[in-house]
Amino acid sequence: MTKLIIERGSRGQMATSLPKCDVPEKSLDELIPGQYQRAWDAIRLPEVSEPELVRHYTNLSVKNHHVDKDLYPLGSCTMKYNPKINDWTAGQPITAEAHPLQTQEMSQAQLQIHFELEQFLCGITGMQRFTLQPAAGSQGELTGVLIMRKYHAQKGNRKTKILIPDAAHGTNPASVAMAGYAAVEIKSNSRGLVDIDDLKSKLDDEVAGLMLTNPNTLGLFEERIQEIVELIHGVDGLMYMDGANMNALIGIVRPADMGFDITHINLHKTFSTPHGGGGPGAGPIGVVERLVPFLPTPTIDKMDDKYVINHDHPDSIGRLHAFYGNYGVLVRAWTYIRMLGGNNLPDISKAAVINANYLMYRLKQYYHLPYDLPCMHEFVLSAIQQKSAGVKALDIAKRLLDYGFHAPTMYFPLIVKEALMIEPTESETRETLDRFVEVMAKIDEEIRTNPDILHQAPQTTPVGRVDETLANRQLTVRW
Ligand SMILES: *Cc1c(COP(=O)(O)O)cnc(C)c1O
Repeated sequence: MTKLIIERGSRGQMATSLPKCDVPEKSLDELIPGQYQRAWDAIRLPEVSEPELVRHYTNLSVKNHHVDKDLYPLGSCTMKYNPKINDWTAGQPITAEAHPLQTQEMSQAQLQIHFELEQFLCGITGMQRFTLQPAAGSQGELTGVLIMRKYHAQKGNRKTKILIPDAAHGTNPASVAMAGYAAVEIKSNSRGLVDIDDLKSKLDDEVAGLMLTNPNTLGLFEERIQEIVELIHGVDGLMYMDGANMNALIGIVRPADMGFDITHINLHKTFSTPHGGGGPGAGPIGVVERLVPFLPTPTIDKMDDKYVINHDHPDSIGRLHAFYGNYGVLVRAWTYIRMLGGNNLPDISKAAVINANYLMYRLKQYYHLPYDLPCMHEFVLSAIQQKSAGVKALDIAKRLLDYGFHAPTMYFPLIVKEALMIEPTESETRETLDRFVEVMAKIDEEIRTNPDILHQAPQTTPVGRVDETLANRQLTVRW
């Protein structure tokens, strides 16, 4: 047993500087077939000074838009400021250097964070227990619907469908279909809320449950939630809350108190975590007491003073994610909640709701507000008036980039034509919101005086207007 010999390449001296390892003496060719070996060539890196390097990365960092640069009012997605301490915690050796296969005894600190986060989420939602495994809201939804299925199967209920309002996020019907149920659409009424008569007309014994986003994607609170819950529970259906975005509710209203049986929360929205560009995320699922046996296995429990990984759940739907889920995101959410402290959590939601209402009242002077009610954490405008001047919501979104703001969510929810869905979040100041209103007013003026500017936007970004249709049909994701 002597050292590994690496003898290829022009920088052979590297081999002598390798530490002596206790592995069998074998040449590289014996270990790795020649065709898989990389020819060792000196890497051509530019020789630059420190200031040049710093400028390079600084300039690179502002070529794209991000929350650290300016407002990112992406409705439903909650692009709030990410406190830097979250990344500091996630980068500590206890997180960054933990190995998923280390033993339970060696993982007590990691399991403690896991356990405490579950407790915080139970406190925030009123649910009995959570699983932190799902790696996204959509995976949380699937987990929730699988729990519904198991519940009904055990009771011998014959259930075939799940009701979903027409304002719902597209992942809802997708999750329902993946779990083997039919998705049945419920209409919204003229006030943008669930149409109770339509709900009643679609309710029968085969309804497994209702998936509801509350506040809904128009940013409106379902006032008749208790009546809805009674109707669904009346046919032994389960109430599922799409709580992806809980920014209006934290510390103010608990899903369990509204009558929900299952809820998911997107930690990467409500509890910060940089998630622009598609990841990473975490969509934990919480359930009421009677559904706890069905949660994914393992659970992280506390016995005496020890944290244990508990696989002993015979009725569990099984495992959803390898190891402990997206652990770095869990640590960020845990840090975010601990830094604020339980008593201050409601301040998040109060500020988010005030900011959204302030923006809504100022912007409705310029853009149509189809559902003119006080909003929660977000609201949806329609660029329908601007469309008569030949300018679409998409053009407005592109023009905003020229003024240094990220675009709002567009064309969603589907029930609003030319939708612009705006969520300022709690982390913006009055000055920023006023700047945004000024820009939106200016864009409205441009539409009436010089609509062509809008069609050519954006012009100040490194990449201009792309052919979206071509990009959708011929997706090329490499140089
Ligand atoms: C973001 C979102 C989802 C999906 O969450 P992902 O983490 O993107 O899978 C579901 N429902 C609502 C209302 C959302 O805003």
